[in-house]
Amino acid sequence: MRAPTPLAQQVAAQRDDRLRVLVVGAGVAGVTATRLLRQRGLHPLLVERTGPEHGGGYMLGMLPFVDPVVRRLEAEPAYLARSVGMRRYALHGRHGQHLRTYRLDEAMDPFGHYRGIERAALLDLLGGDELPVSFDTVVERIDGQGPATAVLLESGTRHEVAVDVVVGADGLHSGVRAQLLRPAEVTRVDTGWGGWVAWAPPDEDPDLYEEVWGDGFFLGLYPVRARTGVFLGGPAAATARGPLGLADRVRTLLRSPGPRLAAALDAVAAAPEAHRWDFVDARSARWTQGPVALVGDAAAAFLPTAGVGAAMAIESAASLADQLEGVGPGGVRSALDAYERGQRPRVEAAQDASRSLARLMFRSGRPLTAARDAATRLVTLRTALGPILRLLADRPGRQVPAPTDPHRPRRTP
Ligand SMILES: Cc1cc2nc3c(=O)[nH]c(=O)nc-3n(C[C@H](O)[C@H](O)[C@H](O)COP(=O)(O)OP(=O)(O)OC[C@H]3O[C@@H](n4cnc5c(N)ncnc54)[C@H](O)[C@@H]3O)c2cc1C
Repeated sequence: MRAPTPLAQQVAAQRDDRLRVLVVGAGVAGVTATRLLRQRGLHPLLVERTGPEHGGGYMLGMLPFVDPVVRRLEAEPAYLARSVGMRRYALHGRHGQHLRTYRLDEAMDPFGHYRGIERAALLDLLGGDELPVSFDTVVERIDGQGPATAVLLESGTRHEVAVDVVVGADGLHSGVRAQLLRPAEVTRVDTGWGGWVAWAPPDEDPDLYEEVWGDGFFLGLYPVRARTGVFLGGPAAATARGPLGLADRVRTLLRSPGPRLAAALDAVAAAPEAHRWDFVDARSARWTQGPVALVGDAAAAFLPTAGVGAAMAIESAASLADQLEGVGPGGVRSALDAYERGQRPRVEAAQDASRSLARLMFRSGRPLTAARDAATRLVTLRTALGPILRLLADRPGRQVPAPTDPHRPRRTP
């Protein structure tokens, strides 16, 4: 778990490191990179803008990209205990009518686990027993082309720290990226859609994730341990009246939605203060410059369509930590170059897949959504997941056999 630690204490612990690393952002990528570097004897400074009470908030479907990392962190038992297997996916059309149910486990089993987990639980287990984090701390400035000087603000108090590497793991609206790249070097897809996350009670289908691709709305149900994450979104005009307004409208559009979809809409309607999330992504033209590297959403942020942003953030964090293995200050640039060369094409391929799906999912208008209902019935899971399955098959160093899941019932051959 992430343990609040004064910055001065972290700086003192790092004094004798062969490589002094600063990681900005204690989210999925930052925590993973820091833990893996600590396994190699380093003591990266890990700083986080928010307070220790933040960090949860939503559900994540974790594709098998994360399995090798979870194992390296000796967190697999905790991972399996705190998540649920996502084995089936039901797709509904614009009136909520069932179109097709897919067996996710059949597609994913050759590669590993596909699990649903709360972000807070994931951060806890990635962080291990106690991971020092300076909360309420942001980077004001990064200077330098060789060793970097970072000016940090810890609860408003200014500190200047000298480090050999800065890792920008500060998410979609990365401040590190803003210092590294010109605005024209960051391209974005803005779908014009957005929505809210809410929590519904658990039900009898904890292995079933469900989506309704509506006419001007999107509803998703993603089970985690002991509850179900719900996402309801739509274009700006549909979300203008807030979560209650959109939930009411969607109720009128769904014909006999069934108890599970009805409970999901109730959960959104009962969460008027839910945090709004805009469906915007970002792609950085460069991930590194001098001693600074971007990772996770700071490098390439994802639309919520392929459910792969966190998994790629974890994979990239592991790749970065691998490249820094045994490296001293003189080897930083070539290590960061190798990291970008290896990881950026993979992440951008995943991002392309999520952008293509967004063009299909976020649609309004009867003729178009009716045609989509007819067409999606015919799409096989292997076609829909093709790009993701290819990335899984091409994982660097993939030689790990499909892991066993003690919670998974055995199928008879
Ligand atoms: C509702 C929702 C559902 C999602 N579902 C899925 C899914 O099913 N599967 C999946 O793989 N991905 C999913 N994603 C995407 C996934 O959450 C992100 O891709 C992933 O969290 C990226 O990890 P990260 O570490 O780069 O960023 P984050 O996890 O966002 O972490 C960034 C951290 O940096 C901190 N920070 C920001 N600015 C600063 C600063 N200036 N100084 C210091 N710290 C700062 C933030 O507070 C945060 O803690 C979802 C995202 C959302 C919002």
